[in-house]
Amino acid sequence: MWFTARMTVPPRGPEPEELDLLRREYLRNVSHEFRTPLTVIRGYAEYLLGAEELDPERLREVATVLLDSTDRVIGLVDTLIDVGRLEQVAARDALPTESVDLAQLARSAAEAVRAAAEKKQLELELILPDRPLWVRGDGSLLLQMLRKLLDNAIKYSGPASRVTVHGRCEDGRRLLQVEDRGAGIPRDHLPRIFDKFYMVDGGLARRAPGTGVGLYLVREIVRLHQGTVEVTSEVGAGSCFTVQLPAGGGSPEDP
Ligand code: ADP
Repeated sequence: MWFTARMTVPPRGPEPEELDLLRREYLRNVSHEFRTPLTVIRGYAEYLLGAEELDPERLREVATVLLDSTDRVIGLVDTLIDVGRLEQVAARDALPTESVDLAQLARSAAEAVRAAAEKKQLELELILPDRPLWVRGDGSLLLQMLRKLLDNAIKYSGPASRVTVHGRCEDGRRLLQVEDRGAGIPRDHLPRIFDKFYMVDGGLARRAPGTGVGLYLVREIVRLHQGTVEVTSEVGAGSCFTVQLPAGGGSPEDP
């Protein structure tokens, strides 16, 4: 049985004080997320210093761990920068309103996550119209929003599965869906997953690393664009996130 949590998005973004609180809370919450990979890097560096001789195979193993841990730290810093940028835009209440083609953004987002998908042998399926899906807004924030949804779809999918991105125009609105056939989200958690720092499996022994701000960023970016985001999910079968945005931009003859 599939369950749905629908977000009704208020027209205004969060107040600057709220965003200030967000930054402080975020720093407190992710400090241990930083510590874990940094401790690994330190441990392996010490091991390398003390090692007499290392065969090439063992050296490759150590380098892989160092690379993975470094990537995790870079990912955390990037998320921090994302939150900061969103804060700036929302505080200024001055969202750039360029014409943005959502279909093109979906292709770019898919390209950006292709390597991660291939690593898990996931098929990335794009169902997009030939014509542009114009909206008005901030292209780089919208791209970030799609990246977060795709990153999660990949992160919470098992190997050799499929992730689908489906874009279309419906009743004059732009619809973008990111669907996976992965772990799914338990019903009780669905209404809360867009809350800042909320993680379904937030314990130290959790299966997937995270910060709990990905979907918060998605919600805020969609809110800033006067859109809605909705999720449908079933445990063990997968999840489908649907973003709806008002149509706008492009040329007058575009649908
Ligand atoms: P995180 O950094 O933990 O991924 P998010 O804000 O992106 O934080 O997501 C919040 C929670 O929602 C996650 O901890 C995860 O349990 C759940 N979640 C998000 N996307 C998916 C998905 N596609 N499939 C299953 N669970 C998901």
